[in-house]
Amino acid sequence: RIAYVNGRYVPLATAQVRAEDRGFLFGDGVYEVVHLHRGRFVDEEKHLNRLTRSLGELRLAWPVGRRALEGIIREVVERNRLHDNALVYIQVTRGAGKREHYFPKAGTRSTLVVFARALPAFPRDVDAWATSIITGPDQRWDRCDIKTVNLLPNILAKQAAKEAGAFEMAQVDADGMVTECASSNIWIVDAAGQLRTRALGHEILPGCTRAALSELLSAENLTLSETAFSLEELRAAREVFITSATSFVRPITRVDDDSVQDGTVGPVTRKLFAAFTRHVQGGLPN
Ligand code: PLP
Repeated sequence: RIAYVNGRYVPLATAQVRAEDRGFLFGDGVYEVVHLHRGRFVDEEKHLNRLTRSLGELRLAWPVGRRALEGIIREVVERNRLHDNALVYIQVTRGAGKREHYFPKAGTRSTLVVFARALPAFPRDVDAWATSIITGPDQRWDRCDIKTVNLLPNILAKQAAKEAGAFEMAQVDADGMVTECASSNIWIVDAAGQLRTRALGHEILPGCTRAALSELLSAENLTLSETAFSLEELRAAREVFITSATSFVRPITRVDDDSVQDGTVGPVTRKLFAAFTRHVQGGLPN
């Protein structure tokens, strides 16, 4: 497998950045994960817009121009012969310099790493795609809207989920309200039948899948209420699903020890999974 590292295409297994890289020392960097479906990037523009925003919020410099990055992404995909389902990982850090917290001296180059790997085929069977989550305290920081490589609380949450036999952990804030999951956004159809997901803000990552799905709702005659819901509302929900670049629309049929209603995938989730499937296929019918 071939990776791009600071201007060069190198074997991923032996690709290197400097030991003084601030991504390694401090987690001082940002990233993106883009899904490639049958050779097409899904919501690429949304991902690059979010990268631009993440870089700006942390006052990180673009390592190369946006057009150049688009070319690098394609070159990595091409060199790895990834013509079907794949994910592309893009990371930018504040570069290497003397280890001190202050930003490095002017002129220090950002580090850019891009690699890719094949993904299993896009799921066809929504019932088989269903999974479970646990819930736990949101232990992250106040700027979860920035996609930084600082992911310790997310790692601990995902590991706890795995050890409990679940896929994800819904993060519950100090007020008992659900923010999102450790690596995905979370949606419910509440007890009154209303589709809900938390409004954008510093508490959640503005998911590109969340944004893409939101744009598909009116064609499905669905309305979205962007309002926070509590852990109790999550437990009482008619339907629960999560979204991310690698989970797509993923039904949740179990929350902690209880099944969501009768434990089968509900009609709204089913409809949105189908709509998102058409979206990743470029609008083609199934
Ligand atoms: N929330 C968190 C914390 C994430 O890490 C991710 C993606 O990795 C998401 C939400 C979903 O974002 P996207 O749909 O852009 O993949």
